[in-house]
Amino acid sequence: MPELPEVETVRRGLDKHVRGCVVKSAQIHSSGLRWPFQADLGRKLTGSQIEICDRRGKYLLLHLDTGNTWVTHLGMTGGFSIDGRPAKGRQVYEPKPHVRSRHEHVTLLLCDGRVLSFSDPRRFGSMEVVDTNALALHAVLSRLGPEPIDSTFDADQLAGQLHGRRCSIKAAIMNQQIVAGVGNIYACEALHRARISPRRMACTLVRASGQPTDRCQRLAVSLTDILQRAIEIGGSTLRDFSGIDGEVGGFSLSFRAYDREDLRCRRRNCFGVIRRYEQAGRSTFACPVCQR
Ligand SMILES: [Zn+2]
Repeated sequence: MPELPEVETVRRGLDKHVRGCVVKSAQIHSSGLRWPFQADLGRKLTGSQIEICDRRGKYLLLHLDTGNTWVTHLGMTGGFSIDGRPAKGRQVYEPKPHVRSRHEHVTLLLCDGRVLSFSDPRRFGSMEVVDTNALALHAVLSRLGPEPIDSTFDADQLAGQLHGRRCSIKAAIMNQQIVAGVGNIYACEALHRARISPRRMACTLVRASGQPTDRCQRLAVSLTDILQRAIEIGGSTLRDFSGIDGEVGGFSLSFRAYDREDLRCRRRNCFGVIRRYEQAGRSTFACPVCQR
């Protein structure tokens, strides 16, 4: 499932390719994804100009000049692609017959002749157009926790989010209301880098005074660091994830714990072996020696 770095990579791709574009027409090919599409989804997109592509957690927010925002979640397998190659020195693209892919749910014809489409084979994604002014009241978006790559994110803020939480620290940082954008892969990696057991209770990273412990300090740094690193390399590209251009990147982050069951821990001077175990139905990878 795409996590913050992958969604950020898609955001950057979309912003580069479709910012300023006007949607000439919209075709909706299915009844919906995880939830049914709004009956007027196509009408709300048609005629609108995409002003800027933003992101909040794992949600893509394309602000439109109509006062609406096109909100998309990629789910497990969702992705955008653009038909029509940018021709050098030309602002208009040759309209070419668009061949709809099998799992394409939405097809937008842009004013410059290109086609922006959204496909999602497993249909765990979501898509809706909402009033931009009402975003602050949105049922999901309004409850998202802080962005771990924001300059304001630090151990104090993380401690505030973890205070009194009696779940495991791994479950806590994967809870979108505690920290936005972190999924299984980056949770495993951040905890390994911070030398924290995924099973440790979240509230033990906060002192009675509310101040962050050393572990909390390390985790805040490792979360920001791992996510920023992954963004820099264009999002690690696993299985079904593909970028805006529809091409799968050739570089994937070198994981230290994730997917490394029975392999030696990559921490210097640690002779542990990475173990895999189930935690809340998801695979957790951790070193039992250096992660406490
Ligand atoms: Zn280790």
